[in-house]
Amino acid sequence: MSAFVNVNGVITDAAHAVIPVYDHGFLYGEGVYEVFRTYHGVPFLFDRHQARLRASAARIGLGVPFTDDEIEWRSLATMTAAGLGNAGLAGDKPSGLSNDAYVRILVTRGVGEITYDPAACPTPSLVIIAKPLPVTPAAHYEQGVKVVMVEDVIRNHPESVSPLIKSNNLLNNALGMQQAIKAGAVEGVFRNYRGELSECSQSNLFIVSNGVVRTPPLEAGLLAGITRAFTMDVGNAVGIRCEEAPLKDADLFGADEAFFTSTTKEIVPIVRVDDRAIGDGRVGPITARLLAEYRREAERLSALSSRLSARTS
Ligand code: PMP
Repeated sequence: MSAFVNVNGVITDAAHAVIPVYDHGFLYGEGVYEVFRTYHGVPFLFDRHQARLRASAARIGLGVPFTDDEIEWRSLATMTAAGLGNAGLAGDKPSGLSNDAYVRILVTRGVGEITYDPAACPTPSLVIIAKPLPVTPAAHYEQGVKVVMVEDVIRNHPESVSPLIKSNNLLNNALGMQQAIKAGAVEGVFRNYRGELSECSQSNLFIVSNGVVRTPPLEAGLLAGITRAFTMDVGNAVGIRCEEAPLKDADLFGADEAFFTSTTKEIVPIVRVDDRAIGDGRVGPITARLLAEYRREAERLSALSSRLSARTS
């Protein structure tokens, strides 16, 4: 199984998927995207991803002339072409994360003359990439990972290109991640223009201190992560207090536990930042419990939605 790509309704394997160089997504990075995953073939929190895609597009003045259903059907068709279909048929195939789908939806300004005038591009492009969900090594969850502080580059100022926009223009994120890769770390933690912690290059940051889970507020300049919100909901529902609070370096380095969240990786414990251990340098009990509760709830919702779709189909 490899990647299949849907470019404006035409599905091909990845090698044959092409987009014109005059697409302003290519020329200017003018576009927005989402990544969702499946559990047992069922798209997870798909409605939230659709809503965020539209919110991102609105922030760059980009119309999305496709209905939610249209985007969903194109996604399912692309997953099916990639051998990752069977949405709604939980239990139909062997369980295991690698059998699930990674689906990236991109909407760009479309093709037009070389000008910033949006009127030059009457038709947005819709591209959907479906491939097997990359497997995060079990050791990352069991032993935790190292991250680094991103130095010399700050997260985009909220009044520049707001990090709330899930934009195809990912240069700021890529620069942060380059530092992590160079240091042999799995993530880079950005500070914002005020020197507060904001988020990681491709995930949201959390700390745990005295039994309370904290993550920077949106106002600190970060993506409103869907996993971030889901994690807080799950935590609060099971009695783990989760809240937003401005955080500084000292909060992270002095925390009992830390972790990051993203759609594809769920909740990953952080046990080292630069060369310093967080807490006792091992995966903390609250992080471990949150991960277990997160997965339980994800499985429960996916089973529920597959039973519902089996009943209505
Ligand atoms: N922040 C950034 C910068 C990201 O790229 C991502 C991954 N899309 C996240 C946070 C996590 O967001 P989500 O939980 O919605 O995947």
